[in-house]
Amino acid sequence: MQYVTLNNGVEMPLLGFGVYQIPAEDTERAVFDALAAGYRLLDTAAAYGNEEAVGRAIKSSGVARQDLFVTTKLWVQDAPAQDNTRRAFETSLTKLGLDHLDLYLMHQPFGDVYGQWRAMEALNREGGARAIGVANFYPDRLIDLIVNNEIVPAVNQVETHPFFQRADYQDLMREHGVQIQSWGGFAEGRNDLFTNPLLTGIGEEYGKSAAQVVLRWLTQRGVVAIPKSVRAERMVENFDVFGFRLTDEQMARVATLDTGASLFFDHRDLKIVTWLAGRRLDS
Ligand code: NAP
Repeated sequence: MQYVTLNNGVEMPLLGFGVYQIPAEDTERAVFDALAAGYRLLDTAAAYGNEEAVGRAIKSSGVARQDLFVTTKLWVQDAPAQDNTRRAFETSLTKLGLDHLDLYLMHQPFGDVYGQWRAMEALNREGGARAIGVANFYPDRLIDLIVNNEIVPAVNQVETHPFFQRADYQDLMREHGVQIQSWGGFAEGRNDLFTNPLLTGIGEEYGKSAAQVVLRWLTQRGVVAIPKSVRAERMVENFDVFGFRLTDEQMARVATLDTGASLFFDHRDLKIVTWLAGRRLDS
């Protein structure tokens, strides 16, 4: 496995496993299979409703805690968010059966963002979260958070895939010491990604699938990827992406697929903002 070094020195695997939209009843088996396939970075969230199942899989896998990199995410909290954030963090830890996280992400740039971040800074200083970061922050919000707070987010997890590549944004993040992490690296299969002729054509040159080309392209750009699959054979396929290297010409060809626009949630779209910002978790 290759690693990236975050801005506070913490090492993070370049490739991990995401569990969004895996039903809680299937998650334990899926995560157990992913750990057996070799994944060591697990990405969940309070909002996914499957932290307990992730925790059970970690326990039954027998993989040593220090070999794992576990991320979960804080859902939107009302002001004043300091106490709520701490409670949400403790709830996530309890559900996961862990005594610390490797990465705690603010899931959305909404609610009492400053209160949430200050509480996360405290959790980081106390050692409860080895690194803290954000998700779905567009550049203006990311820079605002950086210039007005003490700890620079270690990671910004944003939609990044061949149809929405975020190359300029990656450069800006790099300038500020923020590691880009891709969510929806396969665009969840939208735009027929898995049969895209450009991607399958490149794959044929190496005996690889479009999925493997995408993961190779992301990680070769220095983007941390967390593909999701419930199928053990796809987990193995998606993990097997470090034995070949795309040429500059192939990287440039993939770059032509960029549309520059989200295929999912544009966090600047007022309908999306209103919907996401207003959603609260039950617990
Ligand atoms: P994704 O990884 O882009 O795509 C998952 C889809 O691809 C599933 O339908 C899966 O089907 C299929 N798939 C996986 N490997 C395949 C392969 N080798 N060949 C063909 N199909 C394949 O989608 P995602 O789950 O939305 O994103 C990845 C992770 O990012 C999430 O799990 C989550 O951890 C994170 N995320 C974060 C946010 C955020 O707001 N921070 C938002 C979305 C996602 P099967 O399962 O049937 O194999």
